[in-house]
Amino acid sequence: MLSVQGIEASYGAAQALFGVDLTIEAGQAHALMGRNGMGKTTTIRAICGLTPAQKGDITFQGRKIAHLPSHKIARAGIGLVPEGRRCFATLTVRENLIATARPGAWDVATVSKLFPRLEERAGQMAATLSGGEQQMLAIGRALMTNPALLILDEATEGLAPTIRAEIWAALRALKADGQSLLIVDKTLKEILPVADACTILERGRSVWSGPPDALTDDLTTRYIGV
Ligand code: ATP
Repeated sequence: MLSVQGIEASYGAAQALFGVDLTIEAGQAHALMGRNGMGKTTTIRAICGLTPAQKGDITFQGRKIAHLPSHKIARAGIGLVPEGRRCFATLTVRENLIATARPGAWDVATVSKLFPRLEERAGQMAATLSGGEQQMLAIGRALMTNPALLILDEATEGLAPTIRAEIWAALRALKADGQSLLIVDKTLKEILPVADACTILERGRSVWSGPPDALTDDLTTRYIGV
């Protein structure tokens, strides 16, 4: 459903991506891995049109999207849960959810079923939620757009173990439901059981792609640092 071929991207004069390839099949969970600063967030930003690719191709559901503005890429069916959550602090949980709604299977009721805590806190300002609840809200907001592909950038970073477990359980449920996922996360023991395929980035290039069971200790030591 998504094919990224040879993309390059820069922040001003500083080039961050030098050739990233990535293929995601429909209904699969794809893990994007690599050490800090290797280009994971930039790859996601390029896919979403936030830091547009200057070279290479991005094809989503048969359509070339690399040249599209970010709102059109979102409308084409790519939902992003950005690093750092970014909910509207002064809107309630319910208002945050409604703000991104587009017709489809995901609505306030189905999101509340996935994350019952959001229902309990429906009338509360987003700013008053815990970090984990804000992350659930960020995922809920992205789901409300009814994306064909949901992208999550470090969705469990800095959260307590019980909340992390809840979020991973939700991601497993989404996958079981057929949702296509692109997940950036640093915790291999959490991401690998969920992933159907992995891509490793090293200094702005994709250096390895394959199923999780083909990921050797040698590769993880070399490129992920564990
Ligand atoms: P992390 O796990 O730390 O988030 P990452 O793999 O997501 O790392 P990126 O954030 O994509 O890596 O960064 C790739 C490169 O681009 C790094 O060299 C980084 O310093 C640089 N970079 C990222 N954001 C900017 C920016 N806004 N301006 C300039 N350079 C940037």
